[in-house]
Amino acid sequence: MAAKRAYVWVAGVTLVAVAAIAVGAVMLFRSEWFRMENRPAPDESPTTVWSEDASGVDGIGDPYTPEAGGTGYQVTHYDISVEVDPVSHFIWGTTVLTVEALGPLEELHLDLAQSVTTVTFDGGDVDFTHNGLDLRLTLPQPATPYQEYRVSVEYNGELEDMPYGLDQGVYLRVGEVLIAEEPHSCAVWFPCNDHPSDPATYSIKATVPHDVEAISAGTWVDTQYGESWDLWIYAIDAPTVTYAVPLAVGQYTIDKDTVEIGGKSVQYFAAASDNGASFGSDGTEGALAYLRRSIAAADHLTTYLGEYPPNTLGGILPPMSTSWGALETWGRPVYDPSCARDGGWDEVLAHEISHFWFGDTITLAGWHDIVINEGMATYMEEYLAPGMTKAAADAWFYEQIADTSPGFWAAPLSDPGPDPATFSGHVYDGGAMAIHATRQLMGDDAFFEFLRAWAAQTGPHSLDEWRTMAQDYSPVDLAYAHAIWFDGTTRLTCSPEVGCP
Ligand SMILES: [Zn+2]
Repeated sequence: MAAKRAYVWVAGVTLVAVAAIAVGAVMLFRSEWFRMENRPAPDESPTTVWSEDASGVDGIGDPYTPEAGGTGYQVTHYDISVEVDPVSHFIWGTTVLTVEALGPLEELHLDLAQSVTTVTFDGGDVDFTHNGLDLRLTLPQPATPYQEYRVSVEYNGELEDMPYGLDQGVYLRVGEVLIAEEPHSCAVWFPCNDHPSDPATYSIKATVPHDVEAISAGTWVDTQYGESWDLWIYAIDAPTVTYAVPLAVGQYTIDKDTVEIGGKSVQYFAAASDNGASFGSDGTEGALAYLRRSIAAADHLTTYLGEYPPNTLGGILPPMSTSWGALETWGRPVYDPSCARDGGWDEVLAHEISHFWFGDTITLAGWHDIVINEGMATYMEEYLAPGMTKAAADAWFYEQIADTSPGFWAAPLSDPGPDPATFSGHVYDGGAMAIHATRQLMGDDAFFEFLRAWAAQTGPHSLDEWRTMAQDYSPVDLAYAHAIWFDGTTRLTCSPEVGCP
């Protein structure tokens, strides 16, 4: 994972350095999916679940993350309450999940890395075991399909004691905590069905000592100040993925406002911690000014993608360096402190904010579909950047193809491989190239109509669905070109048939 992000990060910095068109690639997202009134009727398949086993087994069965989550249910809402001491790095939590059974569920499997003290199911006692990340509830009797149940879990533990490779999502220093990572990080601080095919809404309540701030994703609702501890409340009211929900605790300076994005009035809430961070010569003030440029970036994206998805916008700039450049946490991405240096890396703002559509709202059916997140975000960041003409985009397209090595193409975009290959340069830059080739073949009118229609969707979707919808909007047959771009494993040879005449 560090290697993947390092590759992407270096690629981005190099491009910025050598190309007149500043570019970069990072990762992150947004959501709005099943509104209750739009939920599927019981005789319809409610979402993409890898395993058909509705009795409940450990792991949704995604071959890239086989043990993540569980089958037979989906989470509709997480009500997360935690207390965090940023000096001892200890966490105490109670999370109440609203889950919907998808069949006669007998066992319910969640992911959680902390020590569990109490579990209840619909208010009653329930037998449970906890091995590794797998928290298994054995239900007193099979659940009724399509009925909602409440699962309450109490837990605690030290954040620095994270097994199973999850420590990469935990960044600590004295007085500071950051939990953020893709594809996994939720299990560090709340029990979750950790797969992007199961987006949910969230309420987040974090109690922290009076001398620090607690920042998460979604709309900031309230801060209730106590004598020694304060309660910070956030709400994510459109379904999004578990990796889009971070927790930051530390010495944050907050910039709060109301702004308009594409005609929609939203809360602006950004936070930067200067507790040892190096944001550059302009310090925290410069860092917050950098994040303010998110407003223009988001506004620009709405001209192509339609209504801005979240009810909030902002960013989180922690003092600790991360193993990735930025992460698209809902409405408020986390950016590595270096993003704010040297005048600020504006392209990464566009990349992360575009993930509010591509990844956070239109979520992945499976991790092998990652190019519909990262290829699309890179396309918005680079090829549709402000001031980017079609001629400049074409020039960039050919330059990118020319710069690739045969190894770049070795894994197909339709199945790039588990993390870290999931986040390879091919997925980001090759994905954007494949999208530009699609635009070349379709023509701008049809392509932008397709882009807007794709962006208007919610919930889990796949690359196959992306290809099908592009074909539906295309005046020409895309099958051959898409097979070359998305399924090919050798260096692309340009021709009119594959969209690079
Ligand atoms: Zn991204």
